[in-house]
Amino acid sequence: MGKTLRLLLGDQLNSEHSWFKEVDDNLIYCMFEMRQETDYVTHHIQKVIGFFSAMRNFSKELKSNGYNVIYYKINDTKNTQKLTDNLSKIIEEKGIKRFEYLLPDEYRLDQQLKDFCTSIAIDSTAVDTEHFYTKRNELKTFYEGKKQYLMENFYRHMRKKHEVLMEGEQPEGGKWNYDKSNRKKWKGNTSIPHYKWFVNDVSEIVSDIKKAEIETIGTLSTKTFSYPINREQSLQQLNYFCEQLLIHFGDFQDAMHTNEVNLFHSRISFAMNLKLINPKTVIDTVIDYYYEHKNDIDISQVEGFVRQIIGWREYMRGMYWALMPDYKKKNELENTNALPDFFWTGNTKMNCLKNAINNSLDNGYAHHIQRLMVTGNYALLTQINPDEVDQWYLGIYVDAIEWVQLPNTRGMSQYADGGLIATKPYVSSGSYINKMSNYCKDCHYSHKEKVTEDACPFNSLYWNFLDDKRQQLGNNHRMGMMYSLLDKMNADKLTELKERAQHIIENADEY
Ligand code: FAD
Ligand code: SF4
Repeated sequence: MGKTLRLLLGDQLNSEHSWFKEVDDNLIYCMFEMRQETDYVTHHIQKVIGFFSAMRNFSKELKSNGYNVIYYKINDTKNTQKLTDNLSKIIEEKGIKRFEYLLPDEYRLDQQLKDFCTSIAIDSTAVDTEHFYTKRNELKTFYEGKKQYLMENFYRHMRKKHEVLMEGEQPEGGKWNYDKSNRKKWKGNTSIPHYKWFVNDVSEIVSDIKKAEIETIGTLSTKTFSYPINREQSLQQLNYFCEQLLIHFGDFQDAMHTNEVNLFHSRISFAMNLKLINPKTVIDTVIDYYYEHKNDIDISQVEGFVRQIIGWREYMRGMYWALMPDYKKKNELENTNALPDFFWTGNTKMNCLKNAINNSLDNGYAHHIQRLMVTGNYALLTQINPDEVDQWYLGIYVDAIEWVQLPNTRGMSQYADGGLIATKPYVSSGSYINKMSNYCKDCHYSHKEKVTEDACPFNSLYWNFLDDKRQQLGNNHRMGMMYSLLDKMNADKLTELKERAQHIIENADEY
């Protein structure tokens, strides 16, 4: 029997996969750090470090468990920097008789590997990653024949199917969704325990990245990486979340604060997206913890978390596979403006944006509401080309992989799909940001003013956006109230708002 080559991509580090049930000398695993992957978008320095760290760790673990592994570091001379060229060379040099790979989560890599398999003379097969709750096309089948892809319907189906927080056929606690109780402002009086940062030494990787001259964004303040880079650390992060943060997760899910980057969020997305830990392990651990501490933890805290993972995360992946490749080109609102420079520097007088962008540049992280209601909200209100918005989101976050970044950005945040994912655009004036954060308190602008020089830019941008997009949004029944307010607005006032909005759009980097 000849040798089989098995490929592991950088986000396929699932040590619980059935591939790793037993050691077989006829199997060779291969992993590559490649320019193909570091250069398809400009990534945050911490993202590149995180991927390389986790990959190097994973290959070390496999080797120490007796598996044959070929690992190419970024500067290895054998490394062609292109996936299919590396594979072809190994197949030839090692006399490989069969090629196997795990189904990629990205369309781009899926196509590349499909094409590769049709070009080689040996047998090949693709295998499930055994990570998600759902199969790639399960969501598409679920919505077959339905007019809308409402996440809530899928979420309830997932709760029932996987018996999560259920009492027979009914949701535990009597309600499916506690979203309304997940909207408290954090005022600093609920203390947050000292955050768990890992101190992974990444100095070798930093110098490898420098030597390879990989272009990156963002910063790394020390030569350490603070996110989990293996399964053990991922479990530690998860336990920390259960013990310290779950108790208030739901309450402050949408809150933002200048002193807090993470608030009660889990920071588990990087570990999950690289498959260091499975979503089922995450959900089972959180639910077990909740049942053991039911007297202390309210169901609204737990349901909010469960919804993000078996609801939104699986839903976004399903939508991606149902709608690609056309989805990547969608721009139903026909937005064409350029992304302001301050997205890359944090250099703006708008305190909310300054905080959200600086968090992102410093940590490769911002939590959901910062991504959606600060940077995303601003990008949509200023009518930025969704291609540019995608490039930013795909590069800047350590957890950004296209299958989850694209539907969140282009769909949920930018409404570029015309409402397939979000039933209405996530836009707001300054009052929402003021309600959910302390950003406005120390801002150069006043969230109460509309057109004066120190008026919050979001206020004029909001009405200008509604007016500009009346054709696409005017019939959306969820926008009805806002359009009737716009209709009642005095024409001179609207003109003033639009003039200010136009000035902000044209001179974004001055604000
Ligand atoms: P927590 O708040 O603790 O939530 C727990 C987990 O739920 C997360 O780790 C994540 O796996 C999952 N989750 C929550 N919301 C979503 C969602 N909308 N879609 C998918 N999973 C979700 N998430 C990514 O993993 N990668 C991305 O590239 C990404 N890009 C985004 C872009 C925009 C414009 C928006 C609005 C959201 C994006 N998200 C993305 C979703 C979400 O913001 C992050 O998953 C979350 O902030 C990660 O931090 P956390 O682990 O502390 O999450
Ligand atoms: Fe942001 Fe406006 Fe508040 Fe300033 S006043 S922090 S720009 S919402």
